[in-house]
Amino acid sequence: MPRHISEERKTAYYVGMGLQILGGLLFASTFVTSLIHFGDFTDFESRAKSDGFRAFGGMALLIIGGIIRGIGAKGLAGSGVLLDPERARDELEPYSRMAGGMVKDAIEEAKIGLGGEAAKVIMVKCRSCGGLSLESAKFCQECGTKL
Ligand SMILES: [Zn+2]
Repeated sequence: MPRHISEERKTAYYVGMGLQILGGLLFASTFVTSLIHFGDFTDFESRAKSDGFRAFGGMALLIIGGIIRGIGAKGLAGSGVLLDPERARDELEPYSRMAGGMVKDAIEEAKIGLGGEAAKVIMVKCRSCGGLSLESAKFCQECGTKL
């Protein structure tokens, strides 16, 4: 099972991201030019054509870039381009692993510990009250008697 995302997919991801940025800039540029030329109706028709082309092209680039980026990130099957659940599982494996790792990190952070670890905690019994204290405690956590 692949533990890492292949170079090809990484390349596709960044190419897609680049297309999205380009598309976004192209799309945004139509607002800039229409602001600059606000109220100026000379050569209106050709500018409207150029604006429309850039707005449409920018939007198309955004969509295409998004698709390529998604395929790069999740693979052909993982992103739903190919209907192949077995392959999708393999392709999404780095993500499942990441999610699992993040849950594990969170548990460690919260010091909850998973079963096995909790069993390793050694408690000592107080001679005076019989209450349990952590092995590292110098005084009973129940009554305060020196252990
Ligand atoms: Zn005690």
